[in-house]
Amino acid sequence: MNSREWMEKADKYIMRNYGRYPIVAARGKGCRLWDADGKEYLDFLAGIAVNNLGHCHPRVVEALRKQAGELIHCSNLYHIPPQIELAELLCENSFADKAFFCNSGAEANEAAIKLARKYSREKYGPERFEIITASESFHGRTMATLSATGQEKIQRFFDPLLHGFTHVPYNDAEALEKAVTSRTCAVMLEPIQGESGVNVPSADYFREIRRICDRHSVLLIFDEVQVGMGRTGHLFAYEHFGVEPDIMTLAKALAGGAPIGAMLTRDEFASAFTPGSHGSTFGGNPLVTAAAVAAVQVIAEEGFLRRVLEMGNYLRDRLGELKGRYPFITEVRGIGLMVGMGLSIPGADIIRKGHERGLLLNCTHDTVLRFVPPLVVTREEIDEMMMILDGILVEI
Ligand SMILES: *Cc1c(COP(=O)(O)O)cnc(C)c1O
Repeated sequence: MNSREWMEKADKYIMRNYGRYPIVAARGKGCRLWDADGKEYLDFLAGIAVNNLGHCHPRVVEALRKQAGELIHCSNLYHIPPQIELAELLCENSFADKAFFCNSGAEANEAAIKLARKYSREKYGPERFEIITASESFHGRTMATLSATGQEKIQRFFDPLLHGFTHVPYNDAEALEKAVTSRTCAVMLEPIQGESGVNVPSADYFREIRRICDRHSVLLIFDEVQVGMGRTGHLFAYEHFGVEPDIMTLAKALAGGAPIGAMLTRDEFASAFTPGSHGSTFGGNPLVTAAAVAAVQVIAEEGFLRRVLEMGNYLRDRLGELKGRYPFITEVRGIGLMVGMGLSIPGADIIRKGHERGLLLNCTHDTVLRFVPPLVVTREEIDEMMMILDGILVEI
């Protein structure tokens, strides 16, 4: 079937909860994606920061093939070797002692919210359940995580929201400390805000937040669903800010494109979950965790993250050149290969023109172009993207 035929069928059978672009994705390799008509695209969105290793990385494909022939699913009633291996890899490479696995970012944050509440209730009593998050944050679409999310447009129509979330401005430690009360059990923040426009906080923000959390004995949760797994040039974004969280959530890029979520924490907090506290049928199943082990091993290889920093610097330098030439570009910001370009005009037209010319980009918050290419992107691919983008911007 060609793209038009697929889209007609989609129109008939697929629910309309996404504003989809008229592209039918058929095949991918590295930083390239092909549609059902064979048109090639240079992919600088990477499945929204999921395909950090590019499409169909051979090591991930090999791990999936091998595991699919051995055991696909067995339930968490039993021990699962690739799940154990993945937990070891993540804990040995982070602040954490223990891991819990689920299937998405929202579920990872749900698990973090439940753990923080249970730990705090048992330690301080039932009045301590409130969680402070940031305005403009994004933590997911389940009822608990959309209540945590500081965006009215995501919460609208779903009242009553889950009770116990307070929102304060991002990058304002003073406002956060003022919001802490005897009912506060945790603070949940993105180390860099992704969905609301690649907002990088000031260098000492998280050190200040860490001090506030310690002062009030409040748990610090980092939502690294988007910024984790090498995106910023460190395996985890918290490493940039010189602080460690108490709980960290991961998902998007963790399994090289297979659906997974994880919550990591220290033993002290992990012990609040006992048999029966929480669970997930598919969470950490053999197939996805085998893919994740392969993906994490590639990212952890010598030189991989150094290259991410190099390519990130190169991308930001090149985009910075455009800023000098086009007055509607207000700012280029980001860390590693998580880059945003602020515009004084809406970005939708640029995205649409990119599609016509074979470039996949994304626009968040209406006016921020987001560049989250696969971490394996080359200098040549960045140059190619720049040529296409420049060709679009001269026409604006
Ligand atoms: C994508 C994202 C989520 C939600 O992940 P899902 O897998 O879509 O549930 C949560 N937090 C952040 C920071 C994200 O970028």
